[in-house]
Amino acid sequence: MQFARKPASGLSVMIVGAGFAGLTAAIECDRKGHSVILFESFPELKILGDIISFGPNSGRIFRRWEGVEQQLDPICHRSDGVNFVTYKGEWLFKQYWEDEEDRFGKRFNGHRGEIHEIVFNHALARGIDIRLGHKVVDYFETDDKAGVVVQTPDGEQRFTADAVFAAEGVRSPARKIVLGYEDKPKSSGYAVYRSWFKSENLKSPLTDHLWKNGDRHYAWIGPDVHFLAASLKNGKDFSWVCTHKDEADIEDSWSTPGYIEDCLKVVEGWDPVVQEIVKATPTDYLVDWKLIYRDPLPTWVSPKGRIALIGDAAHPFLPTSIQGASQAMEDGVTLAVCLEKCQGRSKDKSKVPEALRAYQRIRYDRVLRAQKTGETTRDKWHKADFEKVKQNPQLVRLDRPEWLLNFDAEEHAYKVYDDVVREMNKESQAKL
Ligand SMILES: Cc1cc2nc3c(=O)[nH]c(=O)nc-3n(C[C@H](O)[C@H](O)[C@H](O)COP(=O)(O)OP(=O)(O)OC[C@H]3O[C@@H](n4cnc5c(N)ncnc54)[C@H](O)[C@@H]3O)c2cc1C
Repeated sequence: MQFARKPASGLSVMIVGAGFAGLTAAIECDRKGHSVILFESFPELKILGDIISFGPNSGRIFRRWEGVEQQLDPICHRSDGVNFVTYKGEWLFKQYWEDEEDRFGKRFNGHRGEIHEIVFNHALARGIDIRLGHKVVDYFETDDKAGVVVQTPDGEQRFTADAVFAAEGVRSPARKIVLGYEDKPKSSGYAVYRSWFKSENLKSPLTDHLWKNGDRHYAWIGPDVHFLAASLKNGKDFSWVCTHKDEADIEDSWSTPGYIEDCLKVVEGWDPVVQEIVKATPTDYLVDWKLIYRDPLPTWVSPKGRIALIGDAAHPFLPTSIQGASQAMEDGVTLAVCLEKCQGRSKDKSKVPEALRAYQRIRYDRVLRAQKTGETTRDKWHKADFEKVKQNPQLVRLDRPEWLLNFDAEEHAYKVYDDVVREMNKESQAKL
C-alpha cells in the first residue's frame, strides 16, 4: 500500500506510549515527514479494554489513514440512536443520530483493543519505528535537544531527539519535568464496572431486544448511577458500563477485576433488564475501573520547550465526555502540524519550542471545554429530577455540539498557527 508522506523535514521526534495519543502523533508526524521513534513499555501488543468511542472529530483522522476506515467499519457499532430509559425501566425517548454523520462526519465506536490493533498495524505498515518492551524511566532536555532514559531488555539507554512527546497516559511520569513537581492524581468520586462478551450469553428473553436484531444502544439513568449497553458486530458482541459512586483508593488498572454481586447491589431495584445483563456477564469479564481525575495542568510543555504532554498525560477525561480518545488524537495531529509550520522553509530546528508552545496554545481552551462536557453530562444524568425528566425526557439528551464534533484539528492548526505564534511573540516582547 502507498502512504501519503511529505518530504523529510529533518526533525526527529521521540514518542512515549503507544496508546491512541502516541500512535496518532507518530502516524501524523510520519505523514508530515518528521522521523519518529516510539517507545512502549508493553512487551507485546494485547487486545485490551472494552468499549471506546471516537466522535466525528477523530473519525475524520482515521479516515485520512490509508485503509483504516475499511478495517474499522465491520467491527464498529452501528445503530440509528440511543434509547433512554429510567432506572425503573420507564421508557423516555430515543435520541436519533439522524443526520449527524452527514453534518459532522462518521463516528467509530468499538472494542478498544481491536481498534487499537488496527491503528498499531497501520503505524507499523508505514514503517514507523515502534519499540515494544521499552519503558521510559526518565526525561531530560537541553536548549536544543530532548531525551529519554529507557529501560530496555538489555539495560538502560539514553536517546535524544529534537522533541519528545509524552503520551504515557494518566499516570504520566513526564509531568514531573514539565511541571517541576510531582503531580498526584485524585479520585473523581466515581468508578465504572465495564464488560464485553458474546451476546449469546444473554439467555433471558428479557434481553433479546438488545441484540437479536442487530446493533442496539440503551442508556438507563438512575440516581447518581448510569448504565449504558450496546451490541456490536450486527448484535454478536455485547458491551456494558455502569458508572457509580466510589470513594475507594485510586486504582487505574484496566485489569482490576469487578464482582457481579457488588454490581448487582448498585443496580438493586432497577429495571429487570439491567439485572439480567449483569447476571449474564461471564465472571471473568467484569472490570472495576476507578475513575481518576486531575485538575487542569498549568502547562503541558517543559521549561525549555522540547517536551510536550499529550493525550491523557496532559488531560484525563471523564467517560461521559465521550471525547478522551478523540482529544488525544487531536493533540497528535496538532503537534505534527506545528512542527511542520515552525520550520517554514528554513529547516530551523531552534523553532521547535515555538511549535510545542503553539500546540498548547491552540489546544488548551478547546480541551478544557471538552473536558467540562463530561462533568455536565454526568451531572445531568446523575442528578436528574425524574418527575421533570418524565415530563420532558429531552432533559437527559446527550449534547452533541457542533463546535466539538464538526472540527478538523489538522485544518485548524494550519489555519491558526501563524496568528498564535505572532500573539505569543507579542506577549513575550511585552514582558521584556
Ligand atoms: C490497556 C488499556 C486499556 C484501555 N481500555 C479502555 C477502554 O476500554 N475504554 C476506554 O474508553 N478507554 C480505555 N483506555 C483508555 C483510553 O485508551 C485513553 O483514555 C485514551 O484513548 C487516551 O489515550 P492515551 O494514548 O493518552 O493514553 P493510554 O491509552 O493510557 O496509553 C498510554 C500508553 O503509554 C504506555 N506507557 C505508560 N507508561 C509508559 C512508560 N513509562 N514508558 C513507555 N510506555 C509507557 C502504556 O502502556 C500505554 O500503552 C485504555 C487504556 C489502556 C492503556
